[in-house]
Amino acid sequence: MSIRSILYEHTAPAAPATTQLTGAHEADFVVIGAGYTGLTAAIHAASRGTKTIVIEAEGPGFGGSGRNHGHCVPILGFINPKSAAERLGRERGERFTRLLVDSGRKVFSLIGRYQIDCEAAPTGALQLAHSPATVEQQKRQCAAYARLGIEAVWLDRAEAVAMSGSEAFHGGWMHPDGGHLNPLAYARGLAKAAIREGAEVYTNSPALSLEREAGCWRVTCPAGTIRAKRVGIATNAYTDRLLPPLGRSYFVMSSYAFASEPIDPALRRRILPGNQSLGDTRPDVRYIRFDKANRMIVGGLVETIRGRNVGWTEDHMRKRFSAVYPELASVKWGWYWSGRLAINMDRQPHLYNPAEGLYALVGYSGRGVPTATALGEVLGEAGTGVAAPDLPMEISELRPLLPAPILSALVPRFRGPVNRIRSIWS
Ligand SMILES: Cc1cc2nc3c(=O)[nH]c(=O)nc-3n(C[C@H](O)[C@H](O)[C@H](O)COP(=O)(O)OP(=O)(O)OC[C@H]3O[C@@H](n4cnc5c(N)ncnc54)[C@H](O)[C@@H]3O)c2cc1C
Repeated sequence: MSIRSILYEHTAPAAPATTQLTGAHEADFVVIGAGYTGLTAAIHAASRGTKTIVIEAEGPGFGGSGRNHGHCVPILGFINPKSAAERLGRERGERFTRLLVDSGRKVFSLIGRYQIDCEAAPTGALQLAHSPATVEQQKRQCAAYARLGIEAVWLDRAEAVAMSGSEAFHGGWMHPDGGHLNPLAYARGLAKAAIREGAEVYTNSPALSLEREAGCWRVTCPAGTIRAKRVGIATNAYTDRLLPPLGRSYFVMSSYAFASEPIDPALRRRILPGNQSLGDTRPDVRYIRFDKANRMIVGGLVETIRGRNVGWTEDHMRKRFSAVYPELASVKWGWYWSGRLAINMDRQPHLYNPAEGLYALVGYSGRGVPTATALGEVLGEAGTGVAAPDLPMEISELRPLLPAPILSALVPRFRGPVNRIRSIWS
């Protein structure tokens, strides 16, 4: 039986000392939400001399940034240099592509620059074929990354078996800029870095309203207000009613996580001996990593029963991973938790600028560790006063997605059966 709480709350270093926002404040830039997006935006803006205030409803990393599985896997799905150049022009398109291509490196270089204590493992991300039929698909993916200048490493079956420690894989590749980390420790470390760069960070301070007042924005929290030229909303799947169309611009899926009790060190040396992060090619991806104390961390998307009935899911996850690693058949789960993902219809992150000086950046489809870190910088650039047409990201039109509540309710129910059928052919 696992403890229903977030493992990282017991393993991450303490958050920086912060207080609730009280009284009246003035700033150049207010960031709403202290996850990876908001905090990297704040670091970027504050380090350029912009007076920056971050307000967070709970604490740094309360949202997806403190609950995720900790895989840093920069993904090609967000990168299309040709379409970026068409939409943004050559120079801005190249910058956008570069930000995403370098996103994994950016995570680990921020960790290095600010000495963030977060179990950082820049060991690479393995993408392995679970069947002979998906090897060719992996070869094409590896080649596509190589064309972007990433030194993708192709692995034949013997190498994939040696690196994973499992006979279940048929080949694959390694993204050298990927890896894994303790997500909450990373978020708290980014909060410390933002403060070090001169940003003020207030917690237990939800933004309750946003009003335009004499050419500025007035942000009201329960015990204080801020007047600022520019506002960056970075609330992703935890967006409340502050800006109603934003919370309806994407649909929500929930993801759950299990962490095991520490496994035997001798067994650990045989499974993922190089300590990479691992994901496979199943339609319902299996991903796995280990933390510093040899706890295996796994998860999946919440469906009708899976992720809701914890006892059933414990057995399901044990079977799912012992099919790849038979030695894990009796693994004991120690922790269980869950969180929300924001998914845009086109599965791409979107930057909005619905009014002068007001920006919002959301929708990472479960890949926010590298992506929110990289694109948070664009929000930070907006915060320094760079005009929207000069930002290295397209401004999307903010429209409520009418079927968002229906998709949020139905996709989790149908996804499992659809994926099980797709798995028959993959
Ligand atoms: C279980 C799970 C597993 C995942 N696994 C991975 C993974 O392995 N790899 C990966 O790359 N990505 C993963 N993700 C996705 C990733 O965590 C997110 O994409 C990323 O954290 C988004 O960061 P963010 O800063 O945009 O938003 P968040 O981290 O969600 O931060 C939003 C913040 O806004 C605050 N907020 C909301 N409303 C207000 C308000 N009115 N006023 C003030 N503050 C407010 C919230 O309290 C919250 O702290 C996972 C997500 C989940 C839930």
